Amino acid sequence: MCYYSVEVSLKIAYTKGNFGLRFFGCVNHKFGRSCKFFRWYDPLMCCHGRRVLRHLREKHERVNMEATSSVATEQNIASKHTLLVLEVTQLRREMESIKSKHQ
Ligand SMILES: [Zn+2]
Repeated sequence: MCYYSVEVSLKIAYTKGNFGLRFFGCVNHKFGRSCKFFRWYDPLMCCHGRRVLRHLREKHERVNMEATSSVATEQNIASKHTLLVLEVTQLRREMESIKSKHQ
């Protein structure tokens, strides 16, 4: 229960310093009401633990970005392939028509 006797919910922090730690927060916070209820559920980590977590989080973000950009590259290649197939089809038709004119 928070300061206004509202049920609190367990949430996960995504901030740089406390990434992944769970805390209790008031649902009214979302609705712009100024209930400042806040309590950590997990014990705070030591400096080393925070460093390791920050490192993992940065690595995770890098991998995500790489995955996103490789999807973009894949889509780019797929659309180029489609254009090439169309071009080849067009050239074949032209070749066929040239051939038939010379028979
Ligand atoms: Zn509250």
